Amino acid sequence: MKVKLAETIRAYHVKGWSPATSTNYSFRENGQIWVSRSGVDKSTFQAEDFIAIDENGCVQAPYIGVKPSDETMIHVLIYRLFPEAQVILHSHSKNPVLISMKNDKVFTVGNYELQKGFSGVTTHDCTLQIPIFENAQEMSYFEQILPQRLSEMKQHCFIIRQHGTYAWGENLFSAKRHLETLDYLCECELEQI
Ligand SMILES: [Zn+2]
Repeated sequence: MKVKLAETIRAYHVKGWSPATSTNYSFRENGQIWVSRSGVDKSTFQAEDFIAIDENGCVQAPYIGVKPSDETMIHVLIYRLFPEAQVILHSHSKNPVLISMKNDKVFTVGNYELQKGFSGVTTHDCTLQIPIFENAQEMSYFEQILPQRLSEMKQHCFIIRQHGTYAWGENLFSAKRHLETLDYLCECELEQI
C-alpha cells in the first residue's frame, strides 16, 4: 500500500493538487494507521514518508519525534466515524476551493453521468449534496462538526471552504474514484458559471 499510495501522491502533485508541500494522506492496514509526515514536497514523496500513528493520532515508535501532518486528527476522526474507510486522500485542487466560495453549507450537483463514480450511486438521474465545512485551524471544530453532519457524507467525501477536499474509501481504488469524481463535478459546475 505504501508504494502504491506514494505513486498516487506524486501523480496528484503533477495535477497541481498539492502545491508547496501541502496536503496529507493516510491508510489503515491491519488496524494500524499510517499518515504522511509533514513538510514533504509531494513531487518526491516516497513510501518511507509514511509514519505510524495510533487511533488518537499519537506518533508510534520508531517514528517518535517525526512530525505528522497538521491535519492528522481529521484522518483519525474519519477512521473513527467510517469503519469501512481504509484510505484517505486530501487535495488542494482549485476546483472544490472555488466551489466552496460560491456555496454555503452544501455543494448541490445533479444529472452528471460521472456521479456514478461515488460508491452507491447507480444513476445520473438524481441530485447529490456534498457537505462544506469551515476552514477551522482548531481540530475541535472537526471533532464536533463531523459527527453532527455524518449522514451528509454518503458520497465518502467533503469540502473544506477555501481549503480543499477529503475523500476516503475501502481501498485506494475506491478513495481515488471518490476524490476524482468530486473534483470533476466541481470543475463542470465552475465552467457553467
Ligand atoms: Zn489541507
